[in-house]
Amino acid sequence: MWNSERFYRERDRRTEAYIRGKGRPPRPVDLVWGDEAATSEWGQLSILSTINMLARFSRGGRLQGPDARMLIRSPFGGGWLRDTVETTARAIDPYGKWSLEPLTGSNFTLGIGQDSEPATFYGRADGWAAVVGPTPPTKSSSGPRRADLLGAGLCACLLSANAFKASFGLDQGAFTGRLSLWSSGLDGDPGPELPIELDLGRVLIAGAGAVASGFAYWSRFLPFRAHWDVVDTDRVELHNTNRSLLFLPSDAGWGGSERAQKAAVLGGFLTDARPFVGRVDQILEGGQRWDLILVVANDYGARTWIQSSKPALGLAATTGADWTTQSFRYRPGRDRCLVCDFPETGSPKLECATATIRTPDVDDEGDSPDAALPFLSAAAGLMLVADLAKLSMGELAASPWHVATWDWFRGIGRPTQFAQSCDSECTRWGSPSVRRKVNRGTRWFDLDPEASQPE
Ligand SMILES: [Zn+2]
Repeated sequence: MWNSERFYRERDRRTEAYIRGKGRPPRPVDLVWGDEAATSEWGQLSILSTINMLARFSRGGRLQGPDARMLIRSPFGGGWLRDTVETTARAIDPYGKWSLEPLTGSNFTLGIGQDSEPATFYGRADGWAAVVGPTPPTKSSSGPRRADLLGAGLCACLLSANAFKASFGLDQGAFTGRLSLWSSGLDGDPGPELPIELDLGRVLIAGAGAVASGFAYWSRFLPFRAHWDVVDTDRVELHNTNRSLLFLPSDAGWGGSERAQKAAVLGGFLTDARPFVGRVDQILEGGQRWDLILVVANDYGARTWIQSSKPALGLAATTGADWTTQSFRYRPGRDRCLVCDFPETGSPKLECATATIRTPDVDDEGDSPDAALPFLSAAAGLMLVADLAKLSMGELAASPWHVATWDWFRGIGRPTQFAQSCDSECTRWGSPSVRRKVNRGTRWFDLDPEASQPE
């Protein structure tokens, strides 16, 4: 039985659990744009990403703006902007009512760019930063730049967060101001231009859930060059599509199709990617070394296994049950390790290779560790993308902080960044000589000065 009632009931369980049933049923959200956004890469990315998130919670709205040929590669196809936006909304929610006509109950409008129709909130990119507010943002003086694609993604997350709160009638503050992925702060720092290519080497994406999905989505639009291995055990479920930017109901078997493996879906959107259907410890067992491991698995077991492999470099991002997004750096010997960050109770003994990894039951309700909202998963993935760009640009060695936190409950609040190292008795990074042995020859070995400096 494929109908809208069952679709929304199954898809939106996690969303309702996350807001603890406090909201009213979601109201429509309108999305409008002008020529500036329609004819620029950043504008198209903001429009496309905003509708991608809106269609995962709002069940319809007005889509109004000029048409233009697509300048960016949409994940779900389409050669022209209007068609691409409508195709994306329909693929995400086959029962949604997105059209040119206003819907009853619609009183909240998002506008992209300075020349959009009147809107409740407007947004635009400014390099690595996004500007969001109740008046049309002024055009950046520096003109179109590749880094605007990062700000465009952030703009979509911030606008969608404001829309989510309004759509469900939640009594939480909306974001207005300038947020920067370069400074991770509210200074609106546009940051430097992106290079033509961001070379990363061999990267293991450990986990293919919602944050990884957001990461792969944004990566598609940036000039990353890498070999990606993507590992996950799970197939897509309908309730994953409430927040994962690349998962569609058709991937979850809606309408009778075969359910897709998460690792395969993500691998399909990345260039030079190889999916591995299995657990993180199984791919680690093969003895391969990666230049970089992205820790986006939900279960604690995976983090423990990754740490015990003494990764050459780790980067991570998570969403919290408290409306936070966080990004983490794991520079060997310097940053607090994965196990000290996420202590596991009753953890399997590391030396026991036969220990089974407990994976969280994805059907758990409410306090499920991976319950989140679309703009949170998308923003966590985007924070990770920004850290990869910084890594490739040589900016990560000098950056002092280990963890950055954004609080989305009341319009970002005060972003925090701080450095942290392991407890003095923790030996999980191993000695410099051990790290030299296992990580010499990896691309980012210089980020571990203790191990990489000549004896
Ligand atoms: Zn530690």
